[in-house]
Amino acid sequence: MTTTKSEALFARAQELLPGGVNSPVRAFKSVGGTPRFIDRANGAIVTDADGNEMIDYVLSWGPMVLGHAHPEVVTALQQAVTQGTSYGAPTAIENKLAELVIDTVPSIEMIRFVNSGTEACMSALRLARAYTGRDKIIKFAGCYHGHADMLLVQAGSGVATFGLPDSPGVPGGTTNNTLVAPFNDLEAVRELFKQYPDEIAGAIVEPIAANMGFVMPDEDYLHDLSELCHEHGAVFILDEVMTGFRVALGGAQQAFDLDPDITCLGKVIGGGLPVGAYAGKREIMQKVAPAGDMYQAGTLSGNPLAMTAGLMTIRVLEHEDNFDKISAQTTKLADGMRAISKKLDIPMQVGHAGTMLGSYFLKEAGAKITDFATAKQYADTEFYGKFFHAMMAEGVYFAPSQFEAGFVSLAHTDAHIEKTLTAAETVLTQLTQ
Ligand SMILES: *Cc1c(COP(=O)(O)O)cnc(C)c1O
Repeated sequence: MTTTKSEALFARAQELLPGGVNSPVRAFKSVGGTPRFIDRANGAIVTDADGNEMIDYVLSWGPMVLGHAHPEVVTALQQAVTQGTSYGAPTAIENKLAELVIDTVPSIEMIRFVNSGTEACMSALRLARAYTGRDKIIKFAGCYHGHADMLLVQAGSGVATFGLPDSPGVPGGTTNNTLVAPFNDLEAVRELFKQYPDEIAGAIVEPIAANMGFVMPDEDYLHDLSELCHEHGAVFILDEVMTGFRVALGGAQQAFDLDPDITCLGKVIGGGLPVGAYAGKREIMQKVAPAGDMYQAGTLSGNPLAMTAGLMTIRVLEHEDNFDKISAQTTKLADGMRAISKKLDIPMQVGHAGTMLGSYFLKEAGAKITDFATAKQYADTEFYGKFFHAMMAEGVYFAPSQFEAGFVSLAHTDAHIEKTLTAAETVLTQLTQ
């Protein structure tokens, strides 16, 4: 397998773009080596610049739930592009995608489209603050909500604490209203509400913490968190940028029977084009300008091409049993990984829900990852790096980091799943010999 073209492109890219990429994880820092430059993709397969084909479980980090270049999405986009690419004025297709999302996601009554998940979460916080007239926000260690200043806080320890910024350039002043609690720890949240009565605008959480690997919420945790927010006059914000249309058609909120006040969306709703959205209860959303006084705007928001890709993607996803088919393939892959872990006696924690999954290699047999602290403590990132590269050599493309989830699409057939599992068994047998 040659990678000379990717290597040359990466060398050049590093002179042009910081680190050679436009988003950090793409640079393979946590697994080492040279990132593959992707030339094209179709169905479940990505092809790199040297012509190597790989079964893709990154899927643009989630959006490509139908697989790449799905014919119905491509045809719709080809049609749309001939009618102009942006007007900066309202269009009928924005209504259509809004209707579809509102019909599909249980808690959503109104929606505002933006251009990324970052924008969605940033705006959702502004809305929670505007609606409650309070400043403080609770987030959970290890949860990612995009790169807006006040959300770039993870907390270095498992103890609930004032947020210290994770990145230079983020002034302490923008994060000292960000309170951090460990995921799956309700008591820590209770403490924060006690410590700051009438000051907390809301809590924002990933229903499945899938930006620190794949951590499921404990039973009732999210439900109780939501109740705790409401008891204290705060809003419950569910960040479904990744889980929306992935954990269930109606998102994790449908799967876990939750009723968030505000939902953040992204990834799948853009079908591979840049879209995000924040959405929720009518009474809260009416606060957004120009219906209300909370300002938020976007030159390209509701862009007709992006709306078209999102609309066609969700329509096809909702067609007959397409969603269940993808979920079944995901289960097959996750169960297969569990079986290999058992057979080869390699300690792993494999999680899956709907059409997404995540596997940790554990440093200790019997260890259980339930939050960011245990993820950092027990996840064997070095072993993952070896696994990742060996799988890529076998033609399987997983995320280039132990702390990212994996995704399955409608284009993943039994043959793809079987080939993946055979490769995993071969690779893991070799790595543990
Ligand atoms: C990807 C992601 C975001 C950020 O979305 P971008 O489109 O990358 O800005 C926010 N929240 C969650 C849960 C995500 O997975």
